[in-house]
Amino acid sequence: MDHFLYRDGVLFAEDVPVPEIAAAVGTPFYVYSVATLTRHVRLFDEGLAGLPHLICYSMKANSNQAVVKLMGDLGAGVDVVSGGEYARAKAAGIPGERIVFSGVGKTREEMRMALEGGVRQINLESEPEMRALSEVAAAMGVTVPVAVRVNPDVDARTHEKIATGKSENKFGIPISRASEVYAEVAAMPGLEVVGIDVHIGSQLTDLQPYRDAYSLVASLTKQLRAEGHAITRLDLGGGLGIPYERSNAAPPLPTEYCDVVRETVGDLGCEIEIEPGRLIAGNAGLLVARVIYVKEGEGRRFLILDSAMNDLVRPSMYGAYHDIVPVAEPAAGVDYAPYDVVGPVCESGDTFAKGRMLPPLSEDDLVAFRSAGAYGAVMASEYNTRPLVPEVLVGGDQFDVIRARPSFDEIVRRDKVPAWL
Ligand SMILES: *Cc1c(COP(=O)(O)O)cnc(C)c1O
Repeated sequence: MDHFLYRDGVLFAEDVPVPEIAAAVGTPFYVYSVATLTRHVRLFDEGLAGLPHLICYSMKANSNQAVVKLMGDLGAGVDVVSGGEYARAKAAGIPGERIVFSGVGKTREEMRMALEGGVRQINLESEPEMRALSEVAAAMGVTVPVAVRVNPDVDARTHEKIATGKSENKFGIPISRASEVYAEVAAMPGLEVVGIDVHIGSQLTDLQPYRDAYSLVASLTKQLRAEGHAITRLDLGGGLGIPYERSNAAPPLPTEYCDVVRETVGDLGCEIEIEPGRLIAGNAGLLVARVIYVKEGEGRRFLILDSAMNDLVRPSMYGAYHDIVPVAEPAAGVDYAPYDVVGPVCESGDTFAKGRMLPPLSEDDLVAFRSAGAYGAVMASEYNTRPLVPEVLVGGDQFDVIRARPSFDEIVRRDKVPAWL
């Protein structure tokens, strides 16, 4: 469910007509809904009610500080995967004790930054990384709570580029080696084992891989405890999928996911950490674009938009599907026809959809890509020197720009031409 609905023939973001934002901000732009973001956090909170838990929003899905601050206000923490995300989380007011640091290649500098600013837990992904963190922590005279990311070798049944829990993926240590690795970590100065971490992939539409992975984590918890480790937290990662294509079968609901958590690891007396990203932010955002031209090609009709692959890369990167809807509600009974929906970037890959059935559209019409709140703006670039797409936040009848579109002047000034050239 989201808060982007037609009212009186026009698409609204909560109580604001989308054309009003377009007039104020220009196109293209992202718009996010406070009500939808809030609802998604609450669904997980309610699903895990009764279990000690912390939602650590995976901020790589959407790292705008306004969104991150909202997460903090709702009581959530964050999962960060870089020093940059850590800095943003702190700037957005997330206290160190609610920041989990994940990622396959944390540098010593990033480790130092987290230890200085405060961190709830660092998730370790390899033995060289463990040794590095131990050295950094010991040199600073501190002890850092850690979990080891185990790779359970389960098939997440998702797109290969976002599957992370198979043995051929670069993430974590093989679960079969966990016992040995935990013994090593426990012996290293500066590190305190507090839990186990697992994250098997993104856009999962089936609960079985979770059931398999979390059952393995439950057995591992018992085994590691028997070996003398104090396992008090389980970080179960994120990855729950969202319905990009409305006509398709709906993926599991957060409550159903939380039931799997309860059934598999709920009786271990551990604090549960979950790291949803896409499910919280995905359907809370639209990318709004304007039609530049409708071009009649040979046997096909191109809808050329002012948004492009640099603004929303998921279709060209993953072949991802996004619902595209006109901002003016189509009249009942109007004829739909196939369009190839493209951007102006000089790449054939700059195609959002081929043969997409849409109502009649013409120059200057507004369209919206649904489910664009996660892995949208964060993956945007300035390819073709197209200014980074701005972001807008709506709450009720209010809206504000939460990241402005840079001017051509700002872009041009960023390059430095050496005096000797
Ligand atoms: C990307 C990521 C997540 C979030 O995944 P979603 O599919 O957006 O829920 C959570 N944890 C880790 C470690 C990640 O890398």
